[in-house]
Amino acid sequence: MRIGIDLGGTKIEGVVLDERGVIARQRVATPQGDYAATLAAVGNLVNTLEAQVGGHALPVGLGHPGSIDPHSGVVRNANSVCLNGRALQQDVEARLGRPVALANDANCLALSELHDGAARGLQSAFLVILGTGVGGAVVANGQLQHGFNGLGGEWGHNPLPWVSRDEWPGAPCWCGQHGCLETWLSGPALARLHANAGGVGDTAQAIVAQAEQGDAIARASLEAYSHRLARALAAVINLLDPQIIVLAGGLSQVRRLYHDVPAHWSRWVFADQVQTPLVPAVHGDASGALGAARLGIES
Ligand SMILES: [Zn+2]
Repeated sequence: MRIGIDLGGTKIEGVVLDERGVIARQRVATPQGDYAATLAAVGNLVNTLEAQVGGHALPVGLGHPGSIDPHSGVVRNANSVCLNGRALQQDVEARLGRPVALANDANCLALSELHDGAARGLQSAFLVILGTGVGGAVVANGQLQHGFNGLGGEWGHNPLPWVSRDEWPGAPCWCGQHGCLETWLSGPALARLHANAGGVGDTAQAIVAQAEQGDAIARASLEAYSHRLARALAAVINLLDPQIIVLAGGLSQVRRLYHDVPAHWSRWVFADQVQTPLVPAVHGDASGALGAARLGIES
């Protein structure tokens, strides 16, 4: 048995995996902006899961936003900014009293979907998290690409491509730049852009529900979102040309994206025909935690 924890900006999801699959799962809200409380929540979640399956200390893998700086060993680039500059691995290990394997959340998603999900058996894939933050992971030659600087797949802080005049320079991002993909494509970004357009509803689900009831502002917000995601992914296709693009995170549940985005992206992909499938993660919300449970086995 192994435990996988997905430390997200909104929720912390934990699973216990054995050779048959998931045997226990639990989800708690992420304490906002509080590093000590976040560590405590991860520790309590591990203890709760262990209590559910017999009380023994199990191997733990943790998926987290951002990446670990290979020189200093501390977290950098996390949209949950209270993690940045922290020795997360050391601190979680001290809390749990055992070694813990860590990896970027999008890389955990990739491990899970490569193992038995949407990318199973494929040589190349690009995997995207559209949640509280925006991240990516690259699979090439059937392997997750960590990258020379530990930055492989970091995509959310590249700029939105092919911007229109009214999209320039874009909103300031917590990273110090303007107009990063995360400022256009995260869940909070969609809610902010929708509110700025005069819309009501602060979740993707609420905006989708309004669009389905014919609300013109909600329809326009989702159309603008699809258009931007199509441009962002067209740039990825032009660079990597993966066999599949897999979406995870809260916005991956918006079904119309799988139709609308490929309908738009051929305008920017440098080819007459684009056959790249755009699909949701097979394991949905649990993908990150499942991949984290596999850390140390197949990372
Ligand atoms: Zn940024």
